[in-house]
Amino acid sequence: MFGKVLIANRGEIALRIQRACRELGIKTVAVHSEVDREAKYVKLADESVCIGPAAPAESYLNVPAIISAAEVTDAEAIHPGYGFLSENADFAERVEKSGFVFIGPRPDTIRMMGDKVSAKKAMKKAGVPTVPGHDAALPESSDEIVKIARSIGYPVIVKAAGGGGGRGMRVVHTEAALPNVVATTRTEAQAAFGNPAIYMEKFLETPRHIEIQVLADKHKNALWLGDRDCSMQRRHQKIIEEAPAPHVNARLRAKIGERCAEACRRIGYEGAGTFEFLYEDGEFYFIEMNTRIQVEHPVTEMVTGLDLVQLQLRIAAGEKLGLKQRDVVLRGHAIECRLNAEDPFRFTPSPGRITTFHMPGGPGVRVDSHAYVSYFIPPNYDSLMGKIIVYGDTRSQAIARMQVALSETVIEGIKTNLPLHQELMRDAAFRAGGTSIHYLEDKLAAHARGD
Ligand code: ADP
Repeated sequence: MFGKVLIANRGEIALRIQRACRELGIKTVAVHSEVDREAKYVKLADESVCIGPAAPAESYLNVPAIISAAEVTDAEAIHPGYGFLSENADFAERVEKSGFVFIGPRPDTIRMMGDKVSAKKAMKKAGVPTVPGHDAALPESSDEIVKIARSIGYPVIVKAAGGGGGRGMRVVHTEAALPNVVATTRTEAQAAFGNPAIYMEKFLETPRHIEIQVLADKHKNALWLGDRDCSMQRRHQKIIEEAPAPHVNARLRAKIGERCAEACRRIGYEGAGTFEFLYEDGEFYFIEMNTRIQVEHPVTEMVTGLDLVQLQLRIAAGEKLGLKQRDVVLRGHAIECRLNAEDPFRFTPSPGRITTFHMPGGPGVRVDSHAYVSYFIPPNYDSLMGKIIVYGDTRSQAIARMQVALSETVIEGIKTNLPLHQELMRDAAFRAGGTSIHYLEDKLAAHARGD
């Protein structure tokens, strides 16, 4: 196992990774920007290095500064967390060329999965069901494009091959609208992602977002660790996640899970990863793979009893997965609410100083947060200030626990989305389970209209 790991991230995930390292007896190096100097996880780390000013481009995305922090502290490996450089193949390559271990898959795997056209192709070849569509980047010829759209059938969605963060995609309902959408998406793809390639697939009208967690070691062993339903989203940002996905047939889940594990073996995947699917009318359709730990990983940890971050560290250190698929038992139900420092219904960010901070507790309640009383939430980063995760024997027990947990939570000094979570836990459709990815936006629109 590593002696020392550098954590190239901030916020709750930096604390989460640090906890995993400390339990394993690994020393930690925190890198931080000037505004994060006083953060709890920076103080708790064995060593810390300031890597630049607040602006992410000058600190958390500053590759030379991060590499030199690893050099001066003599760290052996770098954990990228999520966001920032976590899915940047060039960064992973630089880390390895500089003599450190990148805690994640190999750079070529990250690169392949970062291009959604090549990811979809690879998955289809490995037997993972994908969204019906054209399995290559769109040609230049507009006549060809019209033909492709006709063969898929409207509505279609035009997506940037290099897209991410819910950007670079547009829905097209009619042939008349097609040429403009293709031109705009191509321009945006080039400007935002530096890759003009775009592709087209069927637009699913009311899907759910269900994903499969996988783990694979460097010895061709791969496991799937159940699913998560992350359909409660706004602008493609997840706000509530749960495991398992409600009302999904256990045999179908196992079949898809096994396909994902098999795909990992075929491509020689290493580390933790997530296969994201749209799920509609009892069918799974692959949309993309995330080659990193995800914000919502704790719900999987709660139902499997496994520590995913520790397993990432063990895999990166070259250890064999010590368990077989039959040892992975999915038990009970877990729900995560993401706490954001923002207006609960207008969603404007609400950075600032926290004056009161009481977090919930009791059986089956977990809080992953780097915040505390008097902590100042800087305006420079995303608004995630922590996560409340609950476990119950059944989904209804988990919901009841979350309601109690939310009622105990008091945060003052800034606005948070706590009231939205409270409302959603009371919502009849959420309680029934299985809402589509549009449910929250539709509900918020109704809220704004006052009905
Ligand atoms: P990103 O990498 O930007 O997150 P994804 O390919 O994962 O992009 O898609 C993000 C979201 O866009 C999905 O969760 C879904 O809400 C919507 N979406 C993407 N593809 C489709 C599709 N074929 N049909 C319907 N919605 C889609």
